Amino acid sequence: MRLVTSIDEMRRLCKAIRCEAEHQTLALIPTMGALHEGHLSLIRAARKSPDRVAASIFVNPLQFGPNEDLSKYPRTFEEDCAMLEREGVDLLFTPTVEEMYPAGTQTWVDVPEIGGRLDGASRPGHFRGVATVVTKLFHIVQPDRAFFGQKDAAQVAILQAMVRDLNFDLEIVVCPTIRDEDGLALSSRNRYLTAEERKRALVLSRSLRKVERAVAEGQHAASPLYDLLLQELQTADGIRLDYAEIVDPQTLEPLNDVICGALVAVAAWVGTTRLIDNILITPRKASVC
Ligand code: AMP
Repeated sequence: MRLVTSIDEMRRLCKAIRCEAEHQTLALIPTMGALHEGHLSLIRAARKSPDRVAASIFVNPLQFGPNEDLSKYPRTFEEDCAMLEREGVDLLFTPTVEEMYPAGTQTWVDVPEIGGRLDGASRPGHFRGVATVVTKLFHIVQPDRAFFGQKDAAQVAILQAMVRDLNFDLEIVVCPTIRDEDGLALSSRNRYLTAEERKRALVLSRSLRKVERAVAEGQHAASPLYDLLLQELQTADGIRLDYAEIVDPQTLEPLNDVICGALVAVAAWVGTTRLIDNILITPRKASVC
């Protein structure tokens, strides 16, 4: 695995890969490090095809609000490198903040409507930071495919809109959420949780599973599903609900029913840690959608 910190060198190496062989494609997996099995599932998905694989580790200051956890965000660089090396990653891009945002940088990429929903409503400016850094990574690497996790469903919606609107010549591949055995969605932020908080955090996935079961049993109206979703989340000890929504997976607009598919998404504070989770409901009657 080649470690790269400079944008110029990364561009050169990616270009060389693209020119090497006609049928060889380049995959990109952007991350903020503190890697876990969720991240590795994206790398493994990329490696299933004959892609060469580039990963990035960059804790992007642009997507953190002034009172968020930028300075204490977990950084486990040595372990991350060892994991990526084991997974057969070809290039690891780890630029500094100064390399990505030299003095005078002033251009943003904004997806204003979708970017203001779900986490975008709770974390103003967050998705503008995400869209900007991902645009830069796409320009630097010029991947054929870029892999993202369904765990960050709103991020996926925003990046898909961005790729469509700005005609990026690449495919976004979305991979399923990886969970611990007890259902907790893996997240770099899980390491902030105490043992007690970790137990409490299970209410997120449990509430989502209840909704999933109700849909499977024939409940398609959003309102009773929403009540079910809130039942435990609003009253659970040590949990402060940020949002719970049933929305269109592409536009993130609220839905009245889940017949044509839906994203059921929650965010909650467990102690001082903000966690998110979601499930995708697949369309029931594809013929009417
Ligand atoms: P992050 O390092 O949190 O920015 O995440 C980097 C990528 O890994 C994003 O595309 C995330 O959606 C994805 N990811 C994070 N957690 C999981 C998970 N539990 N399962 C699948 N993908 C994940």
